[in-house]
Amino acid sequence: MKCRVCQAKAMIKIERHHTAFCPICFTDYVHKQVERAVADERMFTRSEEILLAVSGGKDSLALWEILIKLGYKTAGLHVDLGIGDYSRASRAKAERFADSRGARLIVHDLPNELGAGIPQIAEKTDRPPCSACGLVKRYSFNQIALEKGFSVVATGHNLDDEAARLLGNVLHWQEEYLDKQSPVLPAAHEKLVKKVKPLYRLAEREIAAYSIMNRIEYIVEECPNATGAKLLVYKDVLNRLEENAPGTKHNFYLTFLRRRSAGSAEFTEGFPTCQRCGQPTQAGGAARRKAANDSGESALAGATASAPAAHPSSSQENGGARSPLCGYCRLMERVHA
Ligand code: SF4
Ligand SMILES: [Zn+2]
Ligand SMILES: [Zn+2]
Repeated sequence: MKCRVCQAKAMIKIERHHTAFCPICFTDYVHKQVERAVADERMFTRSEEILLAVSGGKDSLALWEILIKLGYKTAGLHVDLGIGDYSRASRAKAERFADSRGARLIVHDLPNELGAGIPQIAEKTDRPPCSACGLVKRYSFNQIALEKGFSVVATGHNLDDEAARLLGNVLHWQEEYLDKQSPVLPAAHEKLVKKVKPLYRLAEREIAAYSIMNRIEYIVEECPNATGAKLLVYKDVLNRLEENAPGTKHNFYLTFLRRRSAGSAEFTEGFPTCQRCGQPTQAGGAARRKAANDSGESALAGATASAPAAHPSSSQENGGARSPLCGYCRLMERVHA
């Protein structure tokens, strides 16, 4: 098997593109896919400084490496979740990467900042750990970006993550989540920063291969709370489909993006804001759909507005009585009660 570009010995085959690359040309292919994602979705420019959410796993560290090599201005943000050995090892990987590249890393230590890590927050609020973790991470990324003056937050979600998430959302017709599933969530409110996913065109195995070829040291162990996560089941199903029909994940997710009309960022305007922190108090799915229905649009053609402060499973966000506090501030009230 030869590299499609230079005819040297290929090290990785990419079935969905009927092609294969040597390590040098593969690295070039990965960089081009990210450049294309950034350009197609107008994620950011070289004059902006990007805050990159860095877990210590392969995706976020590979993205950091790629953006540095492509000449973008970046700083990393690691949220220490306080999940025992897993968090200690993850933080060490993020710190070592930043040191070795001379890059700036901001660490937000939940046990120090909030007096509780994810296990304690989950216990005190009776929420599944991943639900509490997702809410706290989204809020922290946004809040720290605002405080430190970043206009965009990048995360390392890849094609497998997005296709699995789409499958879950479609299986359960989670219209509110479908509304928000996009490689770019605009800054739809003065207290929200833009969120982008520059790896959405790259499969997980490609990012793993890139990390190995580029000697990136990442945490291999999964978070102990990941066991049995639905997303992993959806990934497994999609991997089996992909084996039979290469390109399934790519077609599923990228066709979804193409077929959906471009979203509007304006729907959070006029939304109530949290009395404590000033962020929007609801994800806006119900309100956006109402606005879309009022204007004759379908729910799927709706907005891609982001509202990281909210948690869509709570009754307030799903049409019940509105709370004067956002999801995060309600969570923190219970943690510190
Ligand atoms: S598996 Fe759950 S608890 Fe662990 S890092 Fe992911 S979202 Fe957080
Ligand atoms: Zn080559
Ligand atoms: Zn709030």
